[in-house]
Amino acid sequence: MYTSLFDIFSIGIGPSSSHTMGPMRATASFVEDLRARGVLEKVNNVQVDMYGSLALTGEGHGTPGAAVYGLLGLDAETLDLNTDHIGKVQREGRLQLGGAHNIGFCMERDIVLQKEITLPEHANGMRCRAWDNERNLLHEEYFFSIGGGAVRRRAEIGIAPPSPRTVPYNFNSCAALMELCRTEGKSVAQIVMANESSLRFRELVRRRMQIICKMMSDAIERGISTPGTLPGTLKLARRAPLIYKRLEQLFHRNETDALTIIDWINLWAFAVAEENAAGGRVVTAPTMGSAGIMPAVLRYFERYGTKSSPYTLEQGREVFLLTASAICSLYRANASISGAEVGCQGEVGVACSMAAGGLAAAMGGTNAQIENAAEIAMEHNLGLTCDPICGLVQVPCIERNAIGAVKAVNATRLALRGDGSHYVSLDSVIATMDETGRNLHAGYKETALAGLAKNALTC
Ligand code: SF4
Repeated sequence: MYTSLFDIFSIGIGPSSSHTMGPMRATASFVEDLRARGVLEKVNNVQVDMYGSLALTGEGHGTPGAAVYGLLGLDAETLDLNTDHIGKVQREGRLQLGGAHNIGFCMERDIVLQKEITLPEHANGMRCRAWDNERNLLHEEYFFSIGGGAVRRRAEIGIAPPSPRTVPYNFNSCAALMELCRTEGKSVAQIVMANESSLRFRELVRRRMQIICKMMSDAIERGISTPGTLPGTLKLARRAPLIYKRLEQLFHRNETDALTIIDWINLWAFAVAEENAAGGRVVTAPTMGSAGIMPAVLRYFERYGTKSSPYTLEQGREVFLLTASAICSLYRANASISGAEVGCQGEVGVACSMAAGGLAAAMGGTNAQIENAAEIAMEHNLGLTCDPICGLVQVPCIERNAIGAVKAVNATRLALRGDGSHYVSLDSVIATMDETGRNLHAGYKETALAGLAKNALTC
């Protein structure tokens, strides 16, 4: 099933698309339900239960606060991050439900982390309930945060979500996508652009892609220029500003070497990953835990790739995003982009694969080379577990973004040095990733119960 570029790249608040954005959207949907049923003004109190991975790593991922944002009716793209919305709710013990109806609310009491229970439908489950002042249940709904910030209700689990409109080119596998490209005489980016232009005006598609690129770039700049300590028990210092300073010194002293370019890619990935870990505004690409990879590789293209690309800078950016979104669409259709379902290979692995394919396309690679780059990038992320220390999206996540970005560039270069022929198809790598992920022990799937989270325990 085709997933729109705009469902893949959305602008949100860190640190986690599944544990921050998803819960925020779920509680916002719940409030909209109350409004639609005409009972919003009757609500006396609400309770949100978190299950499975949301409960186990929710505190480190900022899940309770995100749920409050949704209850307040705030929008991730526009909310003012300089206003302490959560602190206000905690101080006053009250909450403006949907921005319209004032109720008593205590985060410790009304957001319950059910750490012992995992709902059968999905590892990231939530239940929202609202009562009136006579304790009559006004509404109850289960939500599941399925990855990349996407949310499904209980009745929608296992059912393909309806497409807003049919697109001209539907593809469920890379083989089908390659065949479409061959028969239509189009590139992967042209196929995706045709689909997106059937959903909204082409100029709107272009404008939105420019905004996504700007948001990615802004996150790099904020990350580079914001010193300090990341929130949470690890008290981790932000490293991007120091790396940047060091790189500038090396440049001015003429002490750079042939691999300095890797330092820059690391820096850009660090900057966004730290911004995300601090609860800043980033683009899901495809998730927030892996949000540093696409911006770092895009910046690499902007700085170093355009000389040998057949495209202008603006065209190259578009081709990069359009191609990466097609690759992500394949992972969403045939595997998962949720660390809670398939481990970090579904987040950093998918981001690496998207970035490699997107870069190959922006550098003028053939469709076969694009598939080759995306396939190489995932092949060497297979089995990557999700084991965030103290449940924070910090260690190993931040460094993992840097390694993933450099790996994506390397995968592209390998693919572009060949003629596109390759032994392992992207479809078989995606199937292997999915199978590996399903077979991973639950401790390695965003529960912080195994791996580094257990053996390097410092919280
Ligand atoms: S280990 Fe990977 S999947 Fe898990 S929280 Fe960190 S970035 Fe996300």
